Amino acid sequence: MQKLDSFNDDINKCSKCGLCQSVCPVYKVTGNDCAVSRGKFIMLKGILNGDLKLNKIINKYLDLCLKCGKCSEFCPSGIDACKIFETAKYEYVKNTFWGKLVFALQSKYVFNTFVKFFNILLTPFRKFPSTNYQKGLKLLYFKGCINTLYPAAYRQLGKIFKNQDIKIIEKDFDCCGLPFLSSGNLKRFEEAKQRNLKNLNCSFDYILTDCASCENTLRQYIVADFISIGELILRQGLKFRFSKPLKVTFHKPCHLKSDEFLEPLLKNCENIQYIKMDNYDDCCGFAGEFALKSHKISSKISAKKADNIMKTGADYVITTCPSCILGLYQGLLGKKNPPKPVSLTDFLCKAEIIYE
Ligand code: SF4
Ligand code: SF4
Repeated sequence: MQKLDSFNDDINKCSKCGLCQSVCPVYKVTGNDCAVSRGKFIMLKGILNGDLKLNKIINKYLDLCLKCGKCSEFCPSGIDACKIFETAKYEYVKNTFWGKLVFALQSKYVFNTFVKFFNILLTPFRKFPSTNYQKGLKLLYFKGCINTLYPAAYRQLGKIFKNQDIKIIEKDFDCCGLPFLSSGNLKRFEEAKQRNLKNLNCSFDYILTDCASCENTLRQYIVADFISIGELILRQGLKFRFSKPLKVTFHKPCHLKSDEFLEPLLKNCENIQYIKMDNYDDCCGFAGEFALKSHKISSKISAKKADNIMKTGADYVITTCPSCILGLYQGLLGKKNPPKPVSLTDFLCKAEIIYE
């Protein structure tokens, strides 16, 4: 596990150009330099120089972050800001009462027992998707914690890929690790990572993912080919017929690597009009813990997103991350006749599927 001082050179690479300010969703609504990489790096540099202490106040600023990764994406110095913030957070919270409590709740004994309990409880409502595998793609399915608790996920997979020449392989994966990174629980992240890596010892063509955030986290430690459900649907050439004309818009999750599949896929949907919203890739403001700890800021970011959604006049707002769905609901709450936030698979299952 890396220590904060091992990032000294990276922190020193910050030229204070301020480009991260122009993309950081938290900075955009707060105007607070401590909320964005540049300001955080100034504080962390002070800690490494011995001028500041890693304390409650600095931890509060570390928490003012959606882990969206936009600052790193646009940083001309190529600094992996989230990795540095996670390390600093771990060094602070691991010795606090609150940190110890959160780490205990996230331990494999508590967290995994909770997920397992619901998994068993929901088993009667789930049927593993059956396909028509002959010699097509072999897909190792990473369903993620949310889909483990959401029995419809299997039903939807079964409906969409029925008769398809694909094989869906399921393994006993742990959480992708993102919630642990967000709380600075690097030890638990490492544990999840090791368990997930062990599950790769089988033959597969792609890791199939149903959540942009899970995929983005897995990519940090798994070297393999990934395919999202949207990309797979497009690749299989599936077509969909909706019974009445519908307008849809799309929210691109911050963690979604590419949305190139979307427009061609929607072109394969009869009766669907796609309306691209302004700033469709702006953050939804949710990001798990952030929405709880910094609720006001989270709501402000969600409200900005919701204004752009409302302008489209869409019936549905589609996305590919369960956490974003909550962010979209948060923003649209109280709006008159808002579009319904749905996952891509939820949405496509409303249609008749045309198998050619
Ligand atoms: S974009 Fe990168 S180099 Fe520029 S201020 Fe932000 S962190 Fe520093
Ligand atoms: S990860 Fe996102 S929210 Fe956090 S500092 Fe970077 S741009 Fe801002």
